[in-house]
Amino acid sequence: NNNFGDKADYVFKVVLIGDSAVGKSQLLARFAKNEFSNDSKSTIGVEFQTKSLIIDQKTVKAQIWDTAGQERYRAVTSAYYRGALGAMLVYDMTKRQTFDHMTRWLEELRGHADKNIVIMLIGNKCDLTDYRAVPIEDAKEFAEREKLYFMETSALEAINVEKAFLEALTEIYRTVS
Ligand code: GDP
Ligand code: MG
Repeated sequence: NNNFGDKADYVFKVVLIGDSAVGKSQLLARFAKNEFSNDSKSTIGVEFQTKSLIIDQKTVKAQIWDTAGQERYRAVTSAYYRGALGAMLVYDMTKRQTFDHMTRWLEELRGHADKNIVIMLIGNKCDLTDYRAVPIEDAKEFAEREKLYFMETSALEAINVEKAFLEALTEIYRTVS
């Protein structure tokens, strides 16, 4: 058990957003349980998962929310965004369209979420190097323009997943402490 009982100095809500099949649920499974499953249906119905970690000698409980098949544009409700201090904006780096949709998701997020929300842009599936459809420069440029943090990850090979969440959570910690 990595949740340290009920004791936590901070609870941070973080939402996962992005098109269907970009790997949101698998990123969460990797981060929260160090698991990966090719059966993407396994996480449907789960609202959120928690993982506790230590930041600056404080226990921080991350409460990570996952969409359950509501990725159609505007189908994610405002309850999903309510109280979120962080957002992981996920695209699939082998599918250009999922990156092009980031502007929409960002607009939707900014319309619903707190002004100071910490946003991490994530290009997932970086293990599929031969199928890259989004140059890293494009993503970096977009992140810079929109003032987002950015990382390429692989939920499958556990590349940068922990790092991405930890960076987002540490930045949230800085904004609230
Ligand atoms: P979601 O709809 O955004 O929650 O996407 P899922 O997490 O259900 O993943 C969609 C599909 O992409 C599944 O078949 C996963 O196995 C696959 N997938 C997720 N992450 C990765 C990754 O990092 N690399 C590769 N190669 N496949 C992935
Ligand atoms: Mg999912």
